[in-house]
Amino acid sequence: MSWVDEYVRNVFNVRDSDVYVVASGLTTSGPAHMGTVMELLIPYSISKTIRRHGRKSYFIFIADTLDSLDSIPAQLTQFKELRDYLGRPLSMVIDPYGCHENYAHHFLDEVLTLMKKFSIECDEVLTADKLYSEGWYDDYARLFFSRLDEVRNILETTSFRKLPPNWMGVVKPICSRCGRNDTTTVKSFNNDLIEYECSACGFNGTTAISDHRWKLLWRLDWPSRQDFLGVDIEGGGVDHFTKGGSWDTAKEIHKRLFNKEPPIPFKFGFVLIEGRKMSKSKGLGSLTEILKYIHPSVIKYFLLKHDLEENRNLRLEPKFLLALYEEYRLVGEGKYQDVKQLRAWELSGGMRWSISFSELLVYYQIYRDWDVITKLIKDEFLVNELKTYVENWVNNGLVPEDYEVQLKPSKPSSDIKKVILMFKDSIDESMSDVDIHNKVYEVARNNGVEPSELFKAIYMMLFSKPKGPRLGKFIKVLGVGRFKALVDEILKDVAEGN
Ligand SMILES: [Zn+2]
Ligand SMILES: [Zn+2]
Repeated sequence: MSWVDEYVRNVFNVRDSDVYVVASGLTTSGPAHMGTVMELLIPYSISKTIRRHGRKSYFIFIADTLDSLDSIPAQLTQFKELRDYLGRPLSMVIDPYGCHENYAHHFLDEVLTLMKKFSIECDEVLTADKLYSEGWYDDYARLFFSRLDEVRNILETTSFRKLPPNWMGVVKPICSRCGRNDTTTVKSFNNDLIEYECSACGFNGTTAISDHRWKLLWRLDWPSRQDFLGVDIEGGGVDHFTKGGSWDTAKEIHKRLFNKEPPIPFKFGFVLIEGRKMSKSKGLGSLTEILKYIHPSVIKYFLLKHDLEENRNLRLEPKFLLALYEEYRLVGEGKYQDVKQLRAWELSGGMRWSISFSELLVYYQIYRDWDVITKLIKDEFLVNELKTYVENWVNNGLVPEDYEVQLKPSKPSSDIKKVILMFKDSIDESMSDVDIHNKVYEVARNNGVEPSELFKAIYMMLFSKPKGPRLGKFIKVLGVGRFKALVDEILKDVAEGN
């Protein structure tokens, strides 16, 4: 059984709900990466599977826009002005590109664009800055202040961290002098007023709960939000679920302070690129780069076909990627019986492609004209879905040698020329690519030539190199008639040269 069916079956067993609320939260602190895709794809697939089993679900995405900017991502270091905003809530940091109201919303927009690209639909998008300003967290802050000893006890036992004796830090106020919310400490809480001190600028100030210039500690924010949104299902990367991690705190807060059962968690493995944890830096391995070469459905298929907690290792060698494209296509054609692969294919869009990506690479190298190719292969859907990726492969030199088709004719020797001509005359339009391939063997043997020698001679004649694409397939893609005309043209030159 696929992990997603197994997980959903368990959810139905342990919790009954009219509408299963599935949540995913992300800090929009910089450019998206493969981990971002996982944070969206996994809960979305769960939500979709709940519906597939005839129940209702509601998928909410929450952007943690009030987290503080704790470092400047590698891709943004040229924006030196960002240094002045370190430690401030992301929704109070400038958008370095100048196109959005703030930093957090710029990167939220990137996440939403990514969702569109991956066909991940969510029922509601919420931002922490809006939720806080609307007062959704107010009563939670009051509750935590009023039950400080219990909160402290839960935090200490679940995070294995001792808190100072006068600790009151259930919230992080935003300093009204320097704007940071990572350097403030609560000194007292009376009549809804929070008194705080800022270690960055030395400011001492007061803010009211209703001012909404504060944010709950993350470990308290998470369960509060799950509570007022009625979340049934929420998960994250395995690193959030380690002993002493924030999930352990959230669970206890639900049970001991809210007297409720916590949401049903799930945790997923890492996405590795070439065996390493993905980096957020630029270059090969970045999401933008990967999306130039791999169709989103194929990426989704790859991420979903693994077991949930298993690490996914994406290799970027062209041959691995071609095999992945082909696996996706063949699962769609029903060539694989593995139920995990089939569910992953369905959840990733279930597209049916009539020919392989590698064949399309050959078509494009020969014709360079999508209208012509569409007429030849009669699959407009496939061409529209894949043409951008094919062009990027060809134009950026990713095509492996076996599929490289660059006509560069050269003259064969007069001995082998005769055999090539015989091969040319022995094939016709009605033959399949396999028939044509077999003809090479037949004609070679009938003329006392090693088949490998004839293959080599034909490749040399067409591409000026001893290897090339599968010959039968290439001749079919090119068209037998066009191949014959091409051979005549090349051999005519040879004759004139002699
Ligand atoms: Zn912007
Ligand atoms: Zn300050």
